[in-house]
Amino acid sequence: MLALQKVRPGVGVELRTVETLDLVPAGEVLVRVHSAGICGTDLHIAEWTAGYESMQSAMPVTLGHEFSGTITAVGDGLEPALIGRRITARPSTTCGTCAACLAGDEDNCSNRKGLGISRNGAFSQFVCVPYSNCHALPDNLDMGIAALTEPMTVCAEAVATADVRPGQKILVIGPGFIGQGIAVLARAKGADVVVMGRDDEPRLAALRAIGFEYLVDTKHVTIDETLSKLSPFDAIIEAAGVPALVSATLPYLKKRGIFTVVGIHPQPAEIDLVKLVRMHQQIRGSYRAPAEDWDAVIAFLAANQVMMSKLISHRLPLADALTGFRVAHQRVATKVVLQIGGGA
Ligand SMILES: [Zn+2]
Ligand SMILES: [Zn+2]
Repeated sequence: MLALQKVRPGVGVELRTVETLDLVPAGEVLVRVHSAGICGTDLHIAEWTAGYESMQSAMPVTLGHEFSGTITAVGDGLEPALIGRRITARPSTTCGTCAACLAGDEDNCSNRKGLGISRNGAFSQFVCVPYSNCHALPDNLDMGIAALTEPMTVCAEAVATADVRPGQKILVIGPGFIGQGIAVLARAKGADVVVMGRDDEPRLAALRAIGFEYLVDTKHVTIDETLSKLSPFDAIIEAAGVPALVSATLPYLKKRGIFTVVGIHPQPAEIDLVKLVRMHQQIRGSYRAPAEDWDAVIAFLAANQVMMSKLISHRLPLADALTGFRVAHQRVATKVVLQIGGGA
């Protein structure tokens, strides 16, 4: 079968033909992949930016951690009746044997393996995943939209971390898919949302198409002239990974406001802590969502399919995965989804 793999450290990914797995490990299921999204993490791995060195021991490894598919085989200990079920899965797998896992605190497992990072992922016809990581999909949910579940759980966690409430005014920095998803979920909570990007017309246009009005492109206006009119914000959620934007936007956060960091920043940010103290503000980090939150996100996607489909800008076959990476890298794409398998 075809698989998009990271073969060696350094720049690049390769489309290769690999063996199909013939033995499914105990407790795991074999999934025929239907759709799989390309995300910023995949681009970082392709460009070999710092922070992914630990992948080396797993290479060659198939990338892809945002996906939907159908169970086609089960390992020991699982019911054959699971075959045919449509699922998505949490990509972070736990070991079940470390001190944290044995204490029931799987969230702090010391041997986590990420699907598509340190074990084979979903940019392939088949992927193997522990059944305990799977979440069932409703029959009416389109499989392409279901592949958005994982990044949307990251967005849901960010909105929860920022404590977004009805009637609040929220600034979202960065109109990539994570910023877009945060905007969508904050609006669904009843907040007024402003989204800011830089030289980001295609991605801001995708938000305009689903009804967002307050969209700022700092290619045309300065941050200060725009935000001074739209602020103060109850919360700012940063999903751009640009350290300078933290200090540039903090002046527009309300007293006791919450600044939530979601982006991965290449350098430290400089922050005026005296102002932070006197404004009684908080800075919070937000990362992976807990397992309990996944089904609510799946239900949100099922209820908002027309809107969510507008955030998928490109649908490509696996054979065109390298084109997909190029498009995603150029920031013209909102979300690139590889359509790998046919059928339901
Ligand atoms: Zn991702
Ligand atoms: Zn563990």
